Amino acid sequence: MSKTLLALHAHPDDESSKGAGTICRYAANGVRCVLVTATGGEAGDILNPAMDRPEIKANLKAVREAELAEAAAIQGYSEVILLGYRDSGMPDSRDNADPRAFCNQPIDEVLGKLVAIVREERPDVLIGYDDHEFYPHPDHLRVHELSLLVFDAAADPKLFPDSGEPWEIKKLYAPTIFTQDRIRTIHDAMLDRTGGSPYDRWVEMMESRPIVPRDMTRIDVSGFVEQSRDALRAHRTQIDPDGQWFAVPTDLVEEVYPWEDFEMIASRVGWSSGEDDLFAGIE
Ligand SMILES: [Zn+2]
Repeated sequence: MSKTLLALHAHPDDESSKGAGTICRYAANGVRCVLVTATGGEAGDILNPAMDRPEIKANLKAVREAELAEAAAIQGYSEVILLGYRDSGMPDSRDNADPRAFCNQPIDEVLGKLVAIVREERPDVLIGYDDHEFYPHPDHLRVHELSLLVFDAAADPKLFPDSGEPWEIKKLYAPTIFTQDRIRTIHDAMLDRTGGSPYDRWVEMMESRPIVPRDMTRIDVSGFVEQSRDALRAHRTQIDPDGQWFAVPTDLVEEVYPWEDFEMIASRVGWSSGEDDLFAGIE
């Protein structure tokens, strides 16, 4: 039977900026990939000057939904499920106080929805978020909390008994966009070849506040970097095609760091250092 991966993300575009090359690779190899997006991204600014137009602003939720569908199709997702909550914006903003905001929903109600989805889709691997110490967006923190909760709750017959047969997800991972190794390797290669690097600020930050190493699994995404960037570019209102995401040429990434890193959060089948497959250990 084919394997299933379920990715839980906070906003439209997160699925394309965090571990998208890995989805491209697994989908191309027959893994059924299901995307669950919690919010409509309504509170995000328009970050591409070419898209900053009144008719787009007036219709932002629908525009972002269409961008998400396109980005998911590019990666090869078989299904996109929208939870339909409102983007919570940053702390102390008006969006954050909105009663429809994701962060203002009772956690059990959202968990119940996710448990039903997991029991229906039966994923082997769940992709959620880590504790986001460098980007404490309330919706991302909520996804972190919910990924841990659903990993246990979906398997527990005593919880949400009317939401389907219990299902044990085998592994829970969180995509890590910038590991120290990635930043350092790409930074050095850019300096070497072009004399400049877009990661100066990151390297400075890393040196002043070292990241504690965590249990990582590294996925080879050789040949999938451009496809994952196409998915990101599909988010025209949020991603500037001339912006920082594309400052490092695809061929350089393919050559010096053709990997994506995932932090191991929980496993029912063990985990060992050096694993290079999210499905390692799963029958
Ligand atoms: Zn986000």
